[in-house]
Order: sequence, then structure tokens, then C-alpha cells
Amino acid sequence: MNAALGPLDYRVPHGMTVAPGSIVVAPLGPRQLTGIVWEPERLPSDAEVGDNRLRNLVGVLPAPPLGAPLRRLIEWTANYYLAPTAAVARMTLASTSALEGGRTITEYRATGIPPARMTPQREQALARIGDRQGLIRELAIAAEVSDGVIRGLVKTRAIEAIEVAIDSPFALPDPGHAVPTLSADQHDAAQALVAAVEARDFEPWLLDGVTGSGKTEVYFEAVAAAIAAGRQSLVLLPEIALTEPFLKRFTARFGCEPVAWHSGLRQSQRRRAWRQIAEGQALVTVGARSALFLPYANLGLIVVDEAHETSFKQEEGVHYHARDVAVMRGLFEKCPVVLASATPAIETRHQVAIGRYKELKLPGRYGAAEMPEIAAIDLIEHPPERGRWIAPPLVTAIDETLARQEQVLLFLNRRGYAPLTLCRTCGHRFQCPNCTAWMVEHRLIHRLACHHCGHVEPVPRACPECSNEDSLVACGPGVERIADEVAALWPDAKAAVVTSDTIWSPAKAAEFVHRMEAGDIDIVIGTQLVTKGYHFPNLTLVGVIDADLGLDGGDLRAAEHTFHQIMQVSGRAGRGEKPGRVFLQTHAPGAAVMQALITGDAESFYAAETEARRDAGAPPFGRYAAIVVSSEDKDAAHATALSIARTAPRIEGMQVYGPAPAPLAMLRGRHRFRLLVHARRALDVQDVLRDWLGALDWKPKVRVAVDVDPYSFV
Ligand SMILES: [Zn+2]
Ligand SMILES: [Zn+2]
Repeated sequence: MNAALGPLDYRVPHGMTVAPGSIVVAPLGPRQLTGIVWEPERLPSDAEVGDNRLRNLVGVLPAPPLGAPLRRLIEWTANYYLAPTAAVARMTLASTSALEGGRTITEYRATGIPPARMTPQREQALARIGDRQGLIRELAIAAEVSDGVIRGLVKTRAIEAIEVAIDSPFALPDPGHAVPTLSADQHDAAQALVAAVEARDFEPWLLDGVTGSGKTEVYFEAVAAAIAAGRQSLVLLPEIALTEPFLKRFTARFGCEPVAWHSGLRQSQRRRAWRQIAEGQALVTVGARSALFLPYANLGLIVVDEAHETSFKQEEGVHYHARDVAVMRGLFEKCPVVLASATPAIETRHQVAIGRYKELKLPGRYGAAEMPEIAAIDLIEHPPERGRWIAPPLVTAIDETLARQEQVLLFLNRRGYAPLTLCRTCGHRFQCPNCTAWMVEHRLIHRLACHHCGHVEPVPRACPECSNEDSLVACGPGVERIADEVAALWPDAKAAVVTSDTIWSPAKAAEFVHRMEAGDIDIVIGTQLVTKGYHFPNLTLVGVIDADLGLDGGDLRAAEHTFHQIMQVSGRAGRGEKPGRVFLQTHAPGAAVMQALITGDAESFYAAETEARRDAGAPPFGRYAAIVVSSEDKDAAHATALSIARTAPRIEGMQVYGPAPAPLAMLRGRHRFRLLVHARRALDVQDVLRDWLGALDWKPKVRVAVDVDPYSFV
């Protein structure tokens, strides 16, 4: 499948049967491509080709045809997000090997027999492979050696080949395995969702309840009803790191694991999951946003957990928002969609307010747990000591908590040691060569890293500008620096840093959970990765190192995000019998968002934010679309951006701003200019954009990307 191609016409040769949705092999020039058969009336091809010039299809792949609801979803997504249909369809065919026949695949694993001749590379390979199993390529990547090293180890029998069955069915979850005792509120909410599953019709729901109120138990009952009816459920999670705790809870309730779908799967696992999902055998799938486009044969329920999370917005390729596409999939599949959140997005609240979504509210925390007490620490009144970041009142609270042998979480949404490194002699700042961004020092790996393009370089001994040695200073804190401060203040406490640098796989997340539960960690220092999903009864103190961090940056949703994030991280404190405390270190304790957090008055905060959005005509009351023009050639990008601005159609209720250099004026070596389209709700912005951009030409080295409903203002 080639994203740049539109629909093409082919002849079905004699003896071949295809239906809409069939996955086929088609010739294109000298090559062969995978394609999907489409109804010609829904997706007319650009050029009429005479029947005598049509080429024959090569074959039909042995996979079930994509259903009509999925084909409608692909069309809708392409149309709404202004993406090529083929680019969206490709997300559905997410496992190429699943499309081929064959019931087994050859994988490799270590035998424990040492190779006759040991080399440093072989040693490294065997050490890193451990008990891992996979294709030669997968093992080579895991071990950071070439394929040849792995093949050599196969020859010496240190690694052996095994045939893995890929079409063996998954265990069936049992709805009656461990039926929970629900509170009265949970019971009522669960009944409403069960009825919706049994009605087999589209219905969007907001399941709204504070962290710890038992939302998962409630939607598990809807999943149970779908299983009982033999229909499939899909649960979307915002992060791969949340998969592991979810699998545990699911197994406790249903007696076996659901099918997991995420980027960490081996090819054989992807293939097995894809096929079982397409054949309707996999009854419950849990996954990241990409699981949304899989070819479920018989979907009966979609749950979007932590639905307010911005990581549901895809920022590369097709710029879709998984929460919104999930609702559309429910519409086409005729099944209920449950958005679960402790802090629903203003867009979702608005859908409830205008009667499009039904709301289920779970009051209070389930069981004995109370919401934690939230207090601000005014950093002007109680400044930390020089060179430190933890203010004296928080130090005291940590002392008290450790004395009770309870656990502490320090939250700072900044990876690395320091966000900026400079030379104290000449003032030189380390900037990424590819991006308008400062390099972030990571002491754990002794590198400077760019968080935008991934560029890394060693920390030099001498300043590259003035050549002075030992002249570099770190400015500002990242989690690693807080960890240093913790080690200095509480040398006997066991501390752990939790970021995407340390928790990069479900297995790492599981290890962290295990250590927390075993009491092997006293103080966690973490980024937003620790704010959700976890349940640690002995964690009773949360300290937010910089509550003001999310507020600068001019993002439309800045205050809302800060509110969500701090509510989420606060929800980590006092999840068991013991009460929790939360301290917010801030320079602006009087700000509306801080007051809302301290008083717990979420409703008036949301009311004020919603009114501000209404006044500004911002979403959900108006619409935005961003046009980002980029090129390695700055002048070419600028010229294209100007010509887009110049040809902007004059339409009532639509303004075009820019072009302006994007906040990251250079990203991955490309110069970027940005235009922002602001329109009234009722305007078909996509139609306007299609006509407007469709009439323009630009040089091949210039890329023009449209982001409908943008979330990132970077
Ligand atoms: Zn210098
Ligand atoms: Zn960079």
C-alpha cells in the first residue's frame, strides 16, 4: 500500500472472487502492492480507465475482508483529518505477516550452551537476549549486535530455532470468574452500561469519577456483558506503561489476560493478535491508540480509559485523536463507547451538556480511601535553600512520612538532570543542531539529549566556545537532579527515578510496581508517567516540585492540563486506608487553577475555563486547524507559507493567522512556519482546506501538513 496513491481500478480475473473489504495483491508497474477492495461508488478513482487497459489482480490474501463499519471509519478519518485514505487504511493492515498464510513462524532463543568460541559481541548478545525469544532481527535489535552475530550463534547452537504456532486461539475470559461486590453507585452505573451493551446500538457515555472511585470495576461489568454475548471489547489506554497494571486487574477479574496490542509486541505476537481479532476469536483487546484501527469482526463495546489524556492525539503521520475516532467507530459499529476519566476534557463535558453523551458519575472514593488534602507551598515565602528545589515545608513532610515508613512521590514533568546547560565562563548554551531547543543533560547516560529529535552527544569536558575546562553548569531541575537532592537529604532512603528513560517497556513497569508493593522504594521521583493508573496503598505523600511548569507556553489548554495533571498525581496519594497529603510548590498560590486544586472546587474552575473558551470562540465552541509548512530550505518553506496565506479564501466566520515561525522554528533539521485557521463551529473547515491547498503547488522539498483540531502548539 502506498500512501501517495489514490484509488486504482483493476480487473478481477476469471475464477477469483472478491468482495468489498477483501485484501488483495495488485500489480503496479513492475511491483506488487497490498490493496483493499472498495465500493467504486464510495471511492471513485481519479481517472476512468478503459476495460481493455485494466490489469488483473494477482490474488486475494487469506485474511477475512474488512467489514463495512471499518471501511466507513477509514473514509471518515481520511476525510476529517485530511489524510490520504491509503495512509489510514495502512493502520488497519498493521501486521504484514498476518496477511500471509501459514500457521507457524520460526523464532529463536538461547539454549544455555556456550558457543565453542566466545567473542565480546557474542557475550554481549547472549547477556542481553537472556530468556527473550523472537526473530533473528528482533534479537539483534535487543542485543544491539548485527544479524550476523545472531546467525553465528545459531550455527554454534548457543541459539536454537523453534516453531511457534501463531494461530492458536487465546484463552477465553470468564465473565463469572471473580464477580466483584460493587457499591450502590458502582452497581447502578454498571447496570446502565450493561444495558447499553445488550441494546447493541451506538451510545456514547462519560464515566466520570475521581481517581480511586472504582471506574475500572464498573466498565469491567460492561466488558463481562459483551463477553457473555460473544462480542468483542476494545479498551484503549493512553500509555504502554499502563498495560501491565491493567493486565493484572483484568486477570484477577476474568481469570486470564486480554489480548494486548502495542508497539512492544514481537512480530509473531502481532500476527497472532491481528488474526484472532479479525476472526472474532480475541474477545477483549487492550491497547494503545493504534488498536483502534484493527479489524474487529464483531465489536460490542469500546472503552477509552483516562480519556482526557493528550497522548491519545497522534502527532505524526495521520494526525487523529483516538478519543474522537473511537466515538466514530462506535457509531459505525453500532456499539456503546465509554469515555472514563477523573478529569474529563472540556470538549467531553460540553458533549454531555448539550445532551449528546450520557453521563455516569461515581461520587467519592471506593472503600475507606478519602481524597487527599491539597495545600500550596508559596515558594516566595518558603524558598528552598540555594541550589536546592525542595522547599522546607515539603522537606518536613517527607521526614514525617518516612518516619511512619510510608512512601513519597515527588512529581516533576521534566526528564533528565537539567533542562539547560551553559558555560559559566562565556555563557555558551548547548543547543540542538537540528532543532530550536536546548540540549537536556542526562547524567544517567552521561549525554546531552534533544527531547524533540533524539539527537544525543557526550557531555564535553571543555566548553566548545571558550575551551575552558570544568566550566559547564546545569540550570534548573530535572528528575535526575531531584534524585541527587533526595540522596543528599535522605541518604538512607531507597529512591527510584521513573521516566520514559527508566520505564520503557511493560516489563520495566511491572518491575517498578513490584518494587513499590514490596516496600523496596521509599521515594519515587517521576514524570507524568507515574501520574496515572497505579495503586500504591502505602503512598501517602505527593510533592509537586513545580506546579507552575505547565502554565507558561500560551497553549489554549494550559490551565486545564495543569489541573488534570495535578489532580491525577494527587490521586496517587492515600489510595488505601491511610489518608494522603499533597503539596504544590508554586510561585502563584493565588492563581485560579491553584485555588481550584486547593479548595477542590473543580466545577467552578471548569465553568470559568469553559466561559473563557466560549468568549474566544475556541474549541468546543469554534474550530482550529494548523497548517505547518516545513523544509530544510528555509526560503522555500517561507515562500510556500506566504503563498498559502496570500491565497486564503475570504469566508465569513473564518480567520487565518500567520505565517509565523513555529514555536520550534527548526525541528529535526527542517525549518517550520505555521498558519492557524480559526473558524466558527458550523463551517466545514476540511472542505475549505481541501479546495484552498488543492489549488496550490509547492516544491517537492517542501512539506505541508494539516493538523485538524491541533493539541500541540509546538
Ligand atoms: Zn565557554
Ligand atoms: Zn533536536
